[in-house]
Amino acid sequence: MRAPMVAANWKMNGSRAICREFVEHFDVDGSVDVVFFPPFLYTSMLMEGFVSRSISVGVQDVCHVNSGAYTGEIGAEMAVDSGATYSLVGHSERRSLFGETDGLIAEKFTTCQQAGLTPVLCVGESREERLDGRAESVVAKQIGSILRTAGIKAFANAVIAYEPVWAIGTGETASPAQAQSMHAFIRAVLAKSDATTARNTRVLYGGSVKASNASELFAERDIDGGLVGGASLEFKEFTKICRAASH
Ligand code: PEP
Repeated sequence: MRAPMVAANWKMNGSRAICREFVEHFDVDGSVDVVFFPPFLYTSMLMEGFVSRSISVGVQDVCHVNSGAYTGEIGAEMAVDSGATYSLVGHSERRSLFGETDGLIAEKFTTCQQAGLTPVLCVGESREERLDGRAESVVAKQIGSILRTAGIKAFANAVIAYEPVWAIGTGETASPAQAQSMHAFIRAVLAKSDATTARNTRVLYGGSVKASNASELFAERDIDGGLVGGASLEFKEFTKICRAASH
């Protein structure tokens, strides 16, 4: 049985005032695992605020190595030392704006796991790739790169987020049927290596999730919750999305 999860990717947004609003008022029942990914500067404030509640805080990215002369970067071991438990890995903005390759993403995935952070691996195709009929092959390649480097067993402590690039921040959401079809495909890719891991790995959907579309997306068999960008900064909207995922 896969527990539902909703993750908030604040990207480079947020403030102490928004952290305070969530810390003081955020309340969802424990049947859904909630993880916040604020900018690194705000992680401590959320961790301290949520300390008595079962809400997790993660980082949006880590360096591929743990320490050294990498100005501006943070290491996975530092993130763990600060209390983080998850890291996003391979978000499409990291891939497209910062040139992250499948190879680098695989290194980051492994670095996270070695440090004790659970990676949330983001995969997804561009609009052009979907229109060309290549959506599945693109996603299979992104997952294949991790399978080759880390092996199938690494997915026992990882989460996958399917985020079609054309749906991120655009207001255009994949239909429940489109998302379900890709989530089933992702499970089939994992099942070629190990059926149990394929069954147990949580696969989240991301891309313009809102309170108005969350329930129908989360009702699909292979969708275990969502990775939410823009709507995760809006307190009431995000609370409704989390409630839509709870049993
Ligand atoms: C994201 O950045 O991971 C995301 C899904 O963004 P949005 O919800 O704004 O589309």
